[in-house]
Amino acid sequence: MFAIGDEDGTLFGGVGGGCNAGGGQGAKYRLHLKIDEEEKNLVSRRTVVKGVLLYQTFEVVVTCLLLKATGNYNGNVTSPKPSLIVLAQQFVVGALFWDTWQYFGHRILHQNKFLYKHIHSQHHRVIVNYAFAAHYHHFLEGFILDTVGGILSVRLSGMSPRASIFFFSFAVIKIVDDHCGSWLPRGNVFHIFFRNNTAFHAVHHQLYGSKYNFSQIFFVHWDKILGTYMPYSLEERAGGGFEARSLEDSKDD
Ligand SMILES: [Zn+2]
Ligand SMILES: [Zn+2]
Repeated sequence: MFAIGDEDGTLFGGVGGGCNAGGGQGAKYRLHLKIDEEEKNLVSRRTVVKGVLLYQTFEVVVTCLLLKATGNYNGNVTSPKPSLIVLAQQFVVGALFWDTWQYFGHRILHQNKFLYKHIHSQHHRVIVNYAFAAHYHHFLEGFILDTVGGILSVRLSGMSPRASIFFFSFAVIKIVDDHCGSWLPRGNVFHIFFRNNTAFHAVHHQLYGSKYNFSQIFFVHWDKILGTYMPYSLEERAGGGFEARSLEDSKDD
């Protein structure tokens, strides 16, 4: 799922998705076999592309209107630049707030049958992920979890508009990586610093994982605290690539 209340973030999402989905040498990093994508996914890549483009158009328009309606967030360009420590604090506060917003919103979208059927099931039509499917979701889901959540995170944390560009862009690049369906092993900062990563979210997209790993964007603490964390192992597949396997059979039903 995803997309963000920021045009720069949306642009990064599109570019990142395209780059990530491209490149022919991806087979040795894939978390799923290509045949799995064809057999398991309930929607074609063509439909996903159309859905993402429509959603991103909607998002840019709505975000502009929302920022205009709530007013006065042009920032004071003459104010002194915040120190790196202040910036780091703002990023952490923004990330923690947004993660909380996303976790509970995402969990409700799964646990309420009506909401799942009419809203969140769209995102789960893609079981074997690829990068540009990150933004394939119902517009209401994107609006509430991403646009509203993102704007609130920025405002509550006190980030400047300039800082929010980096915050949103980082979040979008990360969420595209989380959906890319590949475990790029060397130097991937998202895998080094975040346990909420590609394999973690790939587990959630499997049928056995749909009651677990609700945490989105940065951290996994809400899943750990509330008992919805699905432990998994990442194993090299004999024919190339990797496989994320659930470590708790009891959670498979
Ligand atoms: Zn997803
Ligand atoms: Zn979900």
